[in-house]
Amino acid sequence: MQNEAHVDSWYAATANLQLDLPPLAGKHSCDVCVIGGGYTGLSTALHLRQLGYSVILLEANRIAWGASGRNGGHVATGQRVDQEALEKLVGPERARELWRLGLEAVDLVCELIGHHAIDCELKQGNLHVASKRGDIAALPAEVEHLQTVYGYDQIRFIDSAELADMTSARGFGGATLDSGARHLHPLNFALGLARAALDARAQLFEGSRVLSYSQGAKVNVKTSRGEVEADYLVLGCNGYLDKLEPRAAGRIMPINNYMLATEPLPEATARRLIRDDTSMSDSRFVINYWKLSADNRLLFGGGESYSRRFPADIKGFVRKYMLRIYPELEHTKIDYGWGGTLAITLKRMPDFGRLGPNVFYAHGFSGHGVPTATLAGKLLAEVISGTAERFDVMAGVPAPRFPGGTLLRWPGLVAGMLFYSLRDRLG
Ligand SMILES: Cc1cc2nc3c(=O)[nH]c(=O)nc-3n(C[C@H](O)[C@H](O)[C@H](O)COP(=O)(O)OP(=O)(O)OC[C@H]3O[C@@H](n4cnc5c(N)ncnc54)[C@H](O)[C@@H]3O)c2cc1C
Repeated sequence: MQNEAHVDSWYAATANLQLDLPPLAGKHSCDVCVIGGGYTGLSTALHLRQLGYSVILLEANRIAWGASGRNGGHVATGQRVDQEALEKLVGPERARELWRLGLEAVDLVCELIGHHAIDCELKQGNLHVASKRGDIAALPAEVEHLQTVYGYDQIRFIDSAELADMTSARGFGGATLDSGARHLHPLNFALGLARAALDARAQLFEGSRVLSYSQGAKVNVKTSRGEVEADYLVLGCNGYLDKLEPRAAGRIMPINNYMLATEPLPEATARRLIRDDTSMSDSRFVINYWKLSADNRLLFGGGESYSRRFPADIKGFVRKYMLRIYPELEHTKIDYGWGGTLAITLKRMPDFGRLGPNVFYAHGFSGHGVPTATLAGKLLAEVISGTAERFDVMAGVPAPRFPGGTLLRWPGLVAGMLFYSLRDRLG
């Protein structure tokens, strides 16, 4: 049976918990069966247990084997799409609710870490840097919009002179500093959620790929060695959903994103790269994002691909993006390079939904899943317990199918992505 180990990343090398959970065997029953052991599944399991539901969570590989154990660890405020675009998409009132949920998501991550004493290097602040003239010019108005319309006072504009004191990153002429954002060690956060769910007596199984399920008054879920009968099913598979649920798969597109970890840097270099130890991200369509680890490694994410295969030399693939921003790291050793798969949607807002009365899903977090998938778990638990209001705010955001459905969506997406990444390169 396939049960892949965690990818060889700096995160796996510094995981502070080794869970070794058994595969599902034999027949079981419970109130809710959850598929997927990332933030969505783990947070759903934990929140459902707090509401008194019995829960079985099935993970094909290891807990947090997917994007939740491999990502940049940025916990951004708001939604993946900026508020002005959201206002156009769903109207000002819904945009306001989505903004509030976005802030709640960050608070929830912090609360879970505090309440369950999860040791995951939680730190504060994100410096979002812009390179193109148009992007820089738009920043002050964006800040003002958040301050005046949403009353958000934790963000401010940084001009080029101040930015030069804050970072040696090259090619950026302005930034916003969002002190409400957080960043963390993503795998240790996920493992801490798993520990909390186990302590709350959720049953978690690793090496338990769900092969199929049938849906009637009850849901019957099958793995190669076991079966679960449940009143409800939650799908938390995100970029790894594959063919398990074709009814939901056409609304998301799996794409691959890549990261590296340098060797530990001298303290003076680390402070030059990111003076205040915030996370950083840029305004390119294929976004670059980076932060420092507790032992002063630069954890840098950049580059995407759209096929199932990862580049043979991931370190080299990501390093070229890093050197465009920090040429001073030319001679720095790269200790780790890894990739992961996430799911995006056409509108870059997550897709929450129901498939009949007893099957729920949340996916397509489009690179914003650390806070939003964690919140998704809470909202999934709410909707199952009969309070649909907040789940429906998310489910009400349009999530159109990719043109061409699950079979033909790739060519159009790849053409679009390549067009925009070419625009990035041309500046
Ligand atoms: C390189 C990278 C960098 C990123 N950086 C950031 C960032 O900085 N900030 C941010 O907010 N987001 C980021 N993201 C996105 C974020 O990681 C995801 O949105 C989030 O982790 C999604 O969580 P999830 O639980 O829904 O999915 P996942 O963590 O991917 O978990 C899905 C799980 O489902 C399991 N599964 C799938 N099919 C089955 C089956 N049939 N049976 C049983 N189990 C199954 C998989 O094995 C997997 O473990 C990044 C993603 C990547 C790949």
